[in-house]
Amino acid sequence: MTHNYAAILQDISDAIHQTDFADARKADYIPALASVPDDHFAMVLRTAGGNELAIGQADLPFSIQSISKVFALVLAQRAHGDELWKAVRREPSGSAFNSLIQLEQEHGIPRNPFINAGAIRVADLIASRYANPDRSVAEFLGQLCGNPGIRVDNDVYLSEDQHGDRNRAIAYLMKSFGKLDNPVEDVVRAYFKQCSVAMTAREMARAAFFLANKGVGIDGRTVIAPEETSRINALMLTCGMYDGVGDFAFTVGIPAKSGVGGGIIGVIPGEFSVCVWSPRLDTRGNSAAGIKALEMLIRAIGRSVF
Ligand code: GLN
Repeated sequence: MTHNYAAILQDISDAIHQTDFADARKADYIPALASVPDDHFAMVLRTAGGNELAIGQADLPFSIQSISKVFALVLAQRAHGDELWKAVRREPSGSAFNSLIQLEQEHGIPRNPFINAGAIRVADLIASRYANPDRSVAEFLGQLCGNPGIRVDNDVYLSEDQHGDRNRAIAYLMKSFGKLDNPVEDVVRAYFKQCSVAMTAREMARAAFFLANKGVGIDGRTVIAPEETSRINALMLTCGMYDGVGDFAFTVGIPAKSGVGGGIIGVIPGEFSVCVWSPRLDTRGNSAAGIKALEMLIRAIGRSVF
């Protein structure tokens, strides 16, 4: 069934601009993220047929933050294959994205690759195999979205680095259990840099397209095998929205990954990839307007992955 996506996006944008997300707040624990205007909103949808629909500030770069964890996971998977799953588990955490509690209880093995502990371990695995780990995620994203100019935002990177005590604590805790292979400072630098990549919602919808397209990217090239693509989607569905993942599966029902820059990517395999961006976050660190927009999209088209 074909939908009038342009009209759907317009309705969503109108509704978002009329909604008062009074309780939502921008991430300020990374001070550079707090300077983005509150009311920015963008949504870009890329259909399996290659059509692209955009609304709002679709060409304004934002800080991708934890959305980067999906792409870092693909790089680690390519380099390590199933060995990767000895280093990181695949269970939802039910805890905040930067929690240390389970890490201590589970002897330094992170619950999943999308909480900070898991992503730091994934950055460690990348550092063991890629020549330039500080740039590999940014370069990969550049290839996927067709813009080789994709870069780390240095102001955001410095801000993350200066306020990175908690992530360093996570990395040192893993190191103390013998579960980190490279020096902590090398690993957290690479992790902060991947989080500090700046991209537009349009670029993000393009980069995420392979997840909706059996592992084949916008240029027709295979990024990963179809069965690996399904696994990444399964992890996004179960772990992509942190401790809000259950609510999100209930109300929206698609694989998705958020970041504290206010971006969310999502897919319905075989149909579309979508990126939505609005900087103010709910208490779990997910974009409040972004979740509402995805909920409206799913309601308008009358289907989720369920
Ligand atoms: N760079 C952020 C951090 O490490 C990423 C967190 C996020 O987007 N949820 O805290």
